[in-house]
Amino acid sequence: MDIKENISLARFTTLRVGGTARFFAEARTEADVIEAFGWARANETEVFVLGGGSNIVVSDAGFDGLVIKIRLTGVAFEEEANSVRVTAGAGEDWDALAAVCVEKKLAGFECLSGIPGTVGGTPVQNVGAYGQEVSETIVSVRCFDRRSSEVVELSNTECSFAYRKSIFNMTERERYVVLSVVYNLVKNGEPKIVYKDLKERFGKSEPTLKETRDVVIRIRKEKAMVIDEADPNSRSAGSFFKNPIVDVSIADEIGREVPRFPSAEGKVKIPAAWLIERAGFHKGFALGNAGISEKHSLAIVNRRGATAGEIVALKELIQKGVFEKFGIALETEPVFVGF
Ligand code: NAP
Repeated sequence: MDIKENISLARFTTLRVGGTARFFAEARTEADVIEAFGWARANETEVFVLGGGSNIVVSDAGFDGLVIKIRLTGVAFEEEANSVRVTAGAGEDWDALAAVCVEKKLAGFECLSGIPGTVGGTPVQNVGAYGQEVSETIVSVRCFDRRSSEVVELSNTECSFAYRKSIFNMTERERYVVLSVVYNLVKNGEPKIVYKDLKERFGKSEPTLKETRDVVIRIRKEKAMVIDEADPNSRSAGSFFKNPIVDVSIADEIGREVPRFPSAEGKVKIPAAWLIERAGFHKGFALGNAGISEKHSLAIVNRRGATAGEIVALKELIQKGVFEKFGIALETEPVFVGF
């Protein structure tokens, strides 16, 4: 495998900021992944595993180690009585897979349309949107275990999926490298229309999977949450802050006007976007070359040629403002690399 040196990482990310990788390798097979980790161990070098780059912020200093870009591809469909097992390589483009499955009238991904990134990223944060999440369809995740240097197959239960969480980003963070994912989709299934935005758009009609996908993409486009090279509002890492899950008493202190949604253990989820706007950060707010998207207050965007430093300065300003006004510490959603 070719190990390159001093490769700029910005172009491998949707936010388009950050410095270079000291070493850089592209893994096209499972053997490549194993070889790359062997090389890193022999050279006592840290590793960062790069997927679609849609949820990361790379520092201006870059990453002083080996970046392994996951390019494992291949999609297989296995027919069963009422469902189809879909096995996809971690490097496959997520939305291309969602599109093919919707085209084949397989239900389970329709609400997850238009999401940037790769298949390998989906189990990590249990990607979800518009009332659907990948934990509903994942059967198993094939991984390289960095601890034992072996390839293992983890069942859905072993992944411990929760809201935007799994063992991959919680208890076993940095232990596993996702190689491929097996999903189980329902043949000729109904689309999942549970989310308010979808219910409103469809009213009493019974949409097809394709119509659902099209509407989800339309809603995401309106919020610049579909990557479009021509729209600087989409030059982002998606939602930059998590929606805080807090005790009811904290929501009560903020006031009755704050939107709240029931969450686990009697807590409530508050939209981070609401807090950010009420703390004075409106859509289109700018700080140097960083800004808040004109179409979505949860997205920090690279307006033009921003540095990672400018992105972080805006993130900190927003966190400070929200904390001072509401006493809530907003947590960031993207992964920070080389900070
Ligand atoms: P939105 O639709 O403006 O909603 C903002 C927040 O309100 C979200 O936390 C959402 O919960 C919650 N919410 C809205 N209606 C709800 C209901 N009926 N019951 C419970 N909670 C409700 O969100 P957005 O920022 O534009 O994002 C659109 C969708 O993409 C959302 O589903 C969001 O979660 C998802 N998304 C996912 C990721 C990710 O997987 N990492 C990143 C960005 C956005 P939910 O989060 O449960 O939907």
